Amino acid sequence: MPVADYRTYCTMLDRARERRFAYPAVNVTSLSSANAVLKGLAESRSDGLIQVSTGGGAFASGIAVKDMALGAMSIAEHVHRAAERYSIYVALVTDHCLAEKLDDFVMPLVEATEQRRAAGGRNLFNGHMFDGSNLPLKENLDIAVKLLERFHKNELVLEIEAGVVGGEEDGIVGKASDRLYTTPEETLEVARRLNVVKGARYLLAATFGNVHGVYKPGHVKLKPAVLRDCQQALEKEYGDAARFYFVFHGGSGSAPQEIREAVDYGVVKMNVDTDMQYAFTRAIANHMFKNYDGVLKIDSEVGSKKHYDPRSYLALAEAAMAERVKQAANDLGSAGTTMFGA
Ligand SMILES: [Zn+2]
Repeated sequence: MPVADYRTYCTMLDRARERRFAYPAVNVTSLSSANAVLKGLAESRSDGLIQVSTGGGAFASGIAVKDMALGAMSIAEHVHRAAERYSIYVALVTDHCLAEKLDDFVMPLVEATEQRRAAGGRNLFNGHMFDGSNLPLKENLDIAVKLLERFHKNELVLEIEAGVVGGEEDGIVGKASDRLYTTPEETLEVARRLNVVKGARYLLAATFGNVHGVYKPGHVKLKPAVLRDCQQALEKEYGDAARFYFVFHGGSGSAPQEIREAVDYGVVKMNVDTDMQYAFTRAIANHMFKNYDGVLKIDSEVGSKKHYDPRSYLALAEAAMAERVKQAANDLGSAGTTMFGA
């Protein structure tokens, strides 16, 4: 199927919240990793999200160019074409973008969507994240409201963050503090400010001890009940229908029980990057160790072309990452739920 349109993407999110499952949102940096997500989702009969970070976009544009928006556009255009060959829906989104990077990353992508729409075409992306969690909440939400107004006109879904995700992703290092846990007061303020833009759609990355990257057990104390408390505060203030659509960041390495609990409290999208990176690289490492004398020219030998052809190990990496995507779809309960053909 083509990439999900706005209505389809919104319906995906609504279904996830109603049926209490979440979609994997997988970071990609190349054609191989984007293809791995499509393959894994299709084999799981799961819809899902393909996500590009600022660093991923810069990488995809080429190490001589390093233009994060350009690389994100290239990946998105590939996904628009390739997704047509798979019987699932996929949404295209971008990951963390700090305020100082908006002009170099999110805004050029929004402009690309505006140009495509003006020409009668489809959106380039379905949504973008603005990460203002390093700012005071008021400043964070001032920027978010402006973005949401523009996004709403263009059928884009905004993702914002309140509280701070710990750990490191893409060179952004979070600090350990109380702010690892979002408070009900903060989320009520998010709703109060963003609900002013009538009919607009947004997702909230609330933090409940999440940390980017993977750590040994005991390093991180996840408290999914933080999400429950935020939902309850919201329902009390705005009625039963008002529930957040949460995003689970820093989910790599989480126990299935913690994932299920978070999904029960309204997580509809879980970002998975680190676990996918490992699955991809693990397959390549295996190939290199097993075919050591084929991938290297040792003792004036010539090596083995079929082993050092990058296609040989990138295909293995793609297959391994697709398997990891399937595991994510199972853990999140999205396997078998595709809306395609439904
Ligand atoms: Zn994140």
